[in-house]
Amino acid sequence: MSDDNIHPDDSGNLATSPDSVVVPVYLGQEDKFRFKCYPGISCFNECCRNIDIVLTPYDILRLKNNLGITTTEFIANFVSFYEVDGHGLPGLNLKTKDDMKACEFLIDEGCAVYEDRPTACRYYALGNMAIRKKDSAEAETGVFVVKEDHCKGHLEDNEQTVGEYRHEQGLEEYDAMNFAFQELVLKKKSSGPTVGAPSARSMQLYFLAAYDMDRFREFIRSPGFKDVFDLPSDEYEKIIIDELELMNFSQRFLRQVLFGENTIEQKDDAAEVRMKKKQQRMARNQKEINDHAAGRG
Ligand code: SF4
Ligand code: SF4
Repeated sequence: MSDDNIHPDDSGNLATSPDSVVVPVYLGQEDKFRFKCYPGISCFNECCRNIDIVLTPYDILRLKNNLGITTTEFIANFVSFYEVDGHGLPGLNLKTKDDMKACEFLIDEGCAVYEDRPTACRYYALGNMAIRKKDSAEAETGVFVVKEDHCKGHLEDNEQTVGEYRHEQGLEEYDAMNFAFQELVLKKKSSGPTVGAPSARSMQLYFLAAYDMDRFREFIRSPGFKDVFDLPSDEYEKIIIDELELMNFSQRFLRQVLFGENTIEQKDDAAEVRMKKKQQRMARNQKEINDHAAGRG
């Protein structure tokens, strides 16, 4: 369940390498394709081996709730990391087990987390990609067919539209929850040097707000956040108690962190408070260096 050989070209069209398993045509919601998957098919579970599954923030929320653990625990146990862009922006893949690169959640009966399986698993044997055409400011989702040799579902006598398949797979909800994040990553990737490399601090905040929602909530509760940002108390309460509100808020926060957009009101004395904290941090660091040099560390 992977294809590394695909990318949109400058016009947003689908370009593939000669050995790609992707059918290089974007499909609309009303376009039909032939495919059926069901328990008992000869290739059952084959697509859950040799996987390369990118996780979205919403995928992580659903999976960690299915497992009854925190986002921090999920990240520690079930993901591997990759670089999204040339600046080292982190992306998360589902971790695999054994030589077959099988999914950690694969059991004989199928998927152990089926109700909360990630977006990429729901789309397969379709793929989806956020694209932005050259002359367009808006991101769009491009959908295409992925035909891997092991997948016999393409030989089944069953046709459906992309829209019907998305509905059957519960993808309307996932796509709605993923859209803002995919657009943000696309903007970061396509803006390149005009935005510049984020600072180490921005990268830390990006990781927290994008993926580790439970620690991001702790950050919002901390004086470091409250001293700087000015949120109405009812909005603040909603973010603290409702994790979907928190995730929506995190997308706004990320636009501020990555692009300097004024998406969250800051307190009048925010710059002063930040400068004071920076000076305190630098003083602490200097003291540690001095203590170390004097053999007291
Ligand atoms: S999460 Fe489930 S459907 Fe997705 S690769 Fe793992 S076992 Fe397969
Ligand atoms: S038909 Fe394709 S998607 Fe379904 S189990 Fe087989 S390999 Fe997986």
